[in-house]
Amino acid sequence: VKSAARPALHVLMAGPRGFCAGVDRAIKIVEEAIRKFGAPVYVRHEIVHNKFVVENLKAQGAVFVEELDEVPEDAPVVFSAHGVPKSVPAEARRRQMIYLDATCPLVSKVHRETEHQSAAGRHILLIGHAGHPEVVGTLGQLPPGSFTLVETVEDAERITVPPGPLSYTTQTTLSVEDTAGIVAALRRRFPDLIEPHKDSICYATTNRQGAVRAIAERAEMVVVVGAPNSSNSVRLREVAERAGCPRAIMVQRGAELDPAQMEGMATIGVTAGASAPEVLVQEVLDRLRERFTLTLEEVVVAEENITFKLPPLLNR
Ligand code: SF4
Repeated sequence: VKSAARPALHVLMAGPRGFCAGVDRAIKIVEEAIRKFGAPVYVRHEIVHNKFVVENLKAQGAVFVEELDEVPEDAPVVFSAHGVPKSVPAEARRRQMIYLDATCPLVSKVHRETEHQSAAGRHILLIGHAGHPEVVGTLGQLPPGSFTLVETVEDAERITVPPGPLSYTTQTTLSVEDTAGIVAALRRRFPDLIEPHKDSICYATTNRQGAVRAIAERAEMVVVVGAPNSSNSVRLREVAERAGCPRAIMVQRGAELDPAQMEGMATIGVTAGASAPEVLVQEVLDRLRERFTLTLEEVVVAEENITFKLPPLLNR
């Protein structure tokens, strides 16, 4: 097909999209650890929830495992960006392992705040998704029985809590809108609920949701580049639909996209979850170019210039 024969398609590109500072740092930690210690470097859990990133690091010499007991004592190990229960670094120290904690500093902040609230004698309501590694990590900072997980407004309405002061915290990658609904429901039931110092939904989540809302309002379809186990990517798809976009889909990479779905459309939107690299966004655009002549428009709702330092152990 000659380019001139291809129908036009206007693509709204969400700004910001893709990698956040925490993901960028986590990947660099694995790469730098391989450079410093040599392969193999073990990584406990997918460093970030993206297969492409994981495969890329595997090719450089990273070995991914789910638990610490799968790591030989003399090999360095990296903990994923989502954070780990306290028992994990404690076990690594007990076994005298070299470990690097790639927990996002914003997740670590939530850990410390939650621990502080708990030490002050408050029962913690953690708003988040059961089983997500970040939730497992945050709950793993607290003594057993000192918290209750709240996933939905329905949960907020039916949970029972011990008498005494209550406070709440949230997973960093939740839907801003859903969380506000859950907190409102909790406040109705527990008027003395103590607020956290700062909202724990992170800047990257908030900005990516704001940007996808801006493109979704103008698009006939939104494509989210991300992984089904990536919490913030799944939320982007939901936010797009809720903003009134007739259809929002998620693809992991270009090959998964069928451009025939966009036939007859004039404007679509594209974004990417915080763990999806920009090369995969470009793959999606290339896939679309097989069928359409694209015009791209960056829709920027926020500028980001946050970076996080690497752990001192990696300083050369
Ligand atoms: Fe950190 Fe937010 Fe990125 Fe998670 S999404 S790694 S909390 S910056």
